[in-house]
Amino acid sequence: MVVANSAGGETRVTLHYDGGRHRYAPWQAQPGSPVQRLAPDQVTLAPDGQAATIRLPAAPVQLLIAQPPESLDDVLAPFEARVRAGQLQRVDVGHSLARRPIASYWHRPPAARGTIVLITRQHPPETTGPQAFAHFTDLILGDSVAARAFRANHALMIVPLANPDGFVLGHWRHNLGGVDLNRDWGPFTQPETRALGEAMVRAAGVAPILAVIDFHSTQRDVVYAPPRPSGPDLGEAMLQAIASDLDGASIRIDRAHNPGNGVLKSSARDRFGVGALTWEVGDDSPAERTRRLAEAAALALMASARSERTMR
Ligand SMILES: [Zn+2]
Repeated sequence: MVVANSAGGETRVTLHYDGGRHRYAPWQAQPGSPVQRLAPDQVTLAPDGQAATIRLPAAPVQLLIAQPPESLDDVLAPFEARVRAGQLQRVDVGHSLARRPIASYWHRPPAARGTIVLITRQHPPETTGPQAFAHFTDLILGDSVAARAFRANHALMIVPLANPDGFVLGHWRHNLGGVDLNRDWGPFTQPETRALGEAMVRAAGVAPILAVIDFHSTQRDVVYAPPRPSGPDLGEAMLQAIASDLDGASIRIDRAHNPGNGVLKSSARDRFGVGALTWEVGDDSPAERTRRLAEAAALALMASARSERTMR
């Protein structure tokens, strides 16, 4: 619920989160001017965190938003550019409830020994996870010797926007069916999870899935990595490598495994027997730290794949 009133050249907006809590430091814009993050003293939280009062200068029209606006085109543009350049192939694996395409981008070398699945934006307002995803995919799709060698042997399934309806409509977590997609990997009641899940099964039929990394945001940096299954585990090798490489800035690793809870990483771990991770980036984690961690992780994934290969 939103309550607004204006007095003395100032507008006060109170956001009441029914059953939820204030999460994002809000941004504000007036028509024709760029969005700006509000100063901390413009936002007052209720002691229980379930309401926030925001002070704004009086203006006839203004926009108050949780995150700076992005369009579908903004999100897909880097991958569309790689399609035009001939590096990736776009495959729309299905449609959302509102018939928006579920775009996936593929790199498929002729003799791939495995497939890596990279996915993000199941939850619309989470933007720092997608930043890590962007740096991670940039590095793996880049021109370095390591990236080229990795791509010679590995297929990539890249999903930049798993929940296009929720993203366009500004949903907090759900798709248009009112379902949190990251609780639907298992029941598969929604077209988005069904289409993506079926695409993963088809991919696994061509070259086994070796790792699934699902990028999200939450209050802090943490990677949810269920205990490793038997056999080679590329995701685990990657985590071990960045834990020692980036000592001071190492990320917390949470080993919780709740099979059957409909979370992608649990479902992928149990269906494909691979190291599947939920990579959560803190809402307020510095962009530079996120970039360093994502790039270190991408390098570590490629190095782990290389050393696993030489050990065989
Ligand atoms: Zn999330």
